[in-house]
Amino acid sequence: MQAVMKVLFLDQSGELGGAELCLLDILRPGQDQNQDQNQDQNPGSRSPETERFRGKVALFSPGPFKTRLAQAQIDHQLLSEHPRYLRDRPFCFSRRLGELASLSQSLGDLIQLARDSDLIYANTPKALVLGAIAHLMTHRPLVYHLHDILSPQHFGWLNRSLLVGLANQCVTRVIANSQATQQAFVAAGGESAKTSVIYNGFLPERFHINPAQTQALRLELGYGGGDRFLIGCCSRFAPWKGQHLLLEALASLKNPNLHLFFAGEALFGEENYVLQLRQQVQQLGLTAQVQFLGFRQDIPELLSICDLLVHSPVAPEPFGRVIVEAMLAAKPIIAPAEGSGPELLRHDQTGWLIAPRDVQSLALAIQQLQADPSLRQRLGQAAAAAAQQRFHLQETNRAIYALLKQILQPETEMTPQASPGVAPHASTSSGTSSGTSSATSSATSSANRPANGS
Ligand code: UDP
Repeated sequence: MQAVMKVLFLDQSGELGGAELCLLDILRPGQDQNQDQNQDQNPGSRSPETERFRGKVALFSPGPFKTRLAQAQIDHQLLSEHPRYLRDRPFCFSRRLGELASLSQSLGDLIQLARDSDLIYANTPKALVLGAIAHLMTHRPLVYHLHDILSPQHFGWLNRSLLVGLANQCVTRVIANSQATQQAFVAAGGESAKTSVIYNGFLPERFHINPAQTQALRLELGYGGGDRFLIGCCSRFAPWKGQHLLLEALASLKNPNLHLFFAGEALFGEENYVLQLRQQVQQLGLTAQVQFLGFRQDIPELLSICDLLVHSPVAPEPFGRVIVEAMLAAKPIIAPAEGSGPELLRHDQTGWLIAPRDVQSLALAIQQLQADPSLRQRLGQAAAAAAQQRFHLQETNRAIYALLKQILQPETEMTPQASPGVAPHASTSSGTSSGTSSATSSATSSANRPANGS
């Protein structure tokens, strides 16, 4: 019987962004105890492989993420009470002094937690900075789960250099959430040999919604009668997520039967952008067609009421969980042909890829898909089949835990079940770095598939 391995997960955000939802899935025990509408009542996200790990999350901000960790009965510790730790503006000296005192206390706690763990796992860029300090103080191996595209569109030069420098110097393994993310990391100077691509995983059953429930939700949201065509957009609000582009496309179509809802909120200080969008809706005369639903816990149910999901970021998307969620909901999806888009979707087979940042291309795609129900059905069904095969949570978790085990016990051969190579959604770069077993190396072949494989 092997000892339980203790992993310290670091995440500085208190909000529920994609990285935090992904971490919840990685750590979720067999049965969630809460009212969580996202992945509830689905045992089996953890396998015997994952049970040999004990995870603890260290948080630097209170907020909904902490609430969800508590509801899911995932071990966690809040190291700071500051709600917007490390990112308050404008700068206030006396507040900063208080925060610095609290920061040194938090760092002390963090280092103690790291000492009590076998491995540190940083889930966000700021967590990487803190994780690197803990790694330097304790010599525990550090893993970085990279959920961001380290390109100039997303990060300034200084931040890119810092993150890549820390990853190259302090991190044993970088888990990139897509090939697009991995390639941007390497282009920014990151060491390719340290990277493994592991896609986010999902529980397909969660997206099988009872038709009566779908109908009830449509009625509840005012989409009951007539021949309304309903477009969903389920992303947090941020200028780079491009909700404004979708509004422009909708306005250009001048079709009152087209309806759109936005699910999501501004998670990281982009409240002004939401105000701008609300003004844009008014100025474009779209008030009767567009609803802002706020942050929703029932994304699978919401997806079930859509005729189409549009994802229109104006900068490359690192992964875009919502794309895979819409695939599992068997919905046709429009997404840009850059970032993770071509990796997740195959044009005219499992989705509809358009020219990035192009309002006309987006409007035309909406028009085409609205006019062709059989095309929508074909795309949606093929998307669901592909997503069930490529993005299952159990395979993702196996791949991640196998990778951690390899770092902690490099001498142990991975079982075929535990190998990231088994999952078509997990792949490892060149395999030259320490701790890469033959099983992991075998994953290289899947990494070398065409980007939009499967
Ligand atoms: N999401 C949600 N409620 C909302 C809007 C979005 O739970 O109202 C979820 C969505 O289902 C997805 C995640 O937030 O799982 C967003 O992840 P994604 O990778 O699409 O974007 P990110 O926020 O990481 O940039």
